[in-house]
Amino acid sequence: MNEITFNKPYLTGKETAYICEAVRMMQLSGNGEFTKRCQSFFEKKYGFKKCLLTTSCTDALEMAAMLCNLQKGDEVIVPSYTFVSSALAFVREGAKIVFADSMSENPNIDANQIEALITPRTKVIVPVHYAGVACDMDAIMNIAEKHNLIVVEDAAQAIDSYYKGRLLGTIGHLSTFSFHETKNIISGEGGMLCINDERFTARAEIIWEKGTNRAKFFRGEIDKYNWVDTGSSFLPSEIIAAFLWAQIESMEKIQQKRKSLWEKYYELLSPLAEKQKIKLPQIPDYATNNGHLFYLVCNSLQERTMLINELKKHDILAVFHYQSLHKSDYYSASHDGRILLNSDRYTDCLVRLPMYYELQNSDIERICNVIAELYR
Ligand SMILES: *Cc1c(COP(=O)(O)O)cnc(C)c1O
Repeated sequence: MNEITFNKPYLTGKETAYICEAVRMMQLSGNGEFTKRCQSFFEKKYGFKKCLLTTSCTDALEMAAMLCNLQKGDEVIVPSYTFVSSALAFVREGAKIVFADSMSENPNIDANQIEALITPRTKVIVPVHYAGVACDMDAIMNIAEKHNLIVVEDAAQAIDSYYKGRLLGTIGHLSTFSFHETKNIISGEGGMLCINDERFTARAEIIWEKGTNRAKFFRGEIDKYNWVDTGSSFLPSEIIAAFLWAQIESMEKIQQKRKSLWEKYYELLSPLAEKQKIKLPQIPDYATNNGHLFYLVCNSLQERTMLINELKKHDILAVFHYQSLHKSDYYSASHDGRILLNSDRYTDCLVRLPMYYELQNSDIERICNVIAELYR
């Protein structure tokens, strides 16, 4: 039997042609033709006020954190069950992270518990749309409005997914996406900051361009550019943007395929879920699925270890991820001590199954057979 790997980047075939085109045009640094094409695609198709490509979602989160203008000790509410960057970007700006628990039905932040975490120092809420499934954004935006907070959606996994018909990333004041090779649409490393609240647009462009007003200069709005604010080098080169453009052109095809693979997993594993041997992803009525990742939740850490080992014996690579951030080496001493049961349960019991464009239905049958045999 051939090995079934966990992730395999998908190439549309156009990537190198567009990179050659970028090289021929001899504009290799950032904010050129391909960057503009990618940004305006997202702005026009989805109605973002402004999109800025970045070198990663982590960088986009750092830009968002800088735009929030935090003072030392300001508080930011972040789910504990997420990737490090969702919290790290704000810690670098001097913020104190107040970790929120996940819901019991899926790993997203439990919106019902947010209000109890708010203090006079709270400035930002960071909902993370785990597996591309929406958080309860109406509830979160209402809380933010009531307490005058900024909402930064970490939509790293959520490209082309929706909340009550609204695209994820268009609802919060700011949002961030990832084009890392493990995501649906990729450029190796890569990301994007999206701005929905226009009060952030001008400063975002400056932070993006090393604290200068160079973007304004390039548009001919000023006759020389200057150092005007903080910032860094957040924009990717045209080579990265050219790669991304090829992916964007095939986005619909990629999403269709991933969603159909997801459905296949769901169908074949449903009998085990009905017998309560495992739990399958629950997608609330307000959310859609974008086929980003397929996970199941085991009943215990021991069962998960057994499952991963059994799959490995059959040359199938399954992985777990996210160790509760409130228990991390770096931040646990700063956590306020609250117990976050759901976050810890996903840490111990969630397993991700192989998911990539070239995965076959027959591969999924093989994977699900191994799982069914184990639980028999
Ligand atoms: C992948 C991911 C990130 C980081 O994205 P990079 O582009 O690798 O920086 C951040 N948050 C979440 C939820 C992610 O899944």
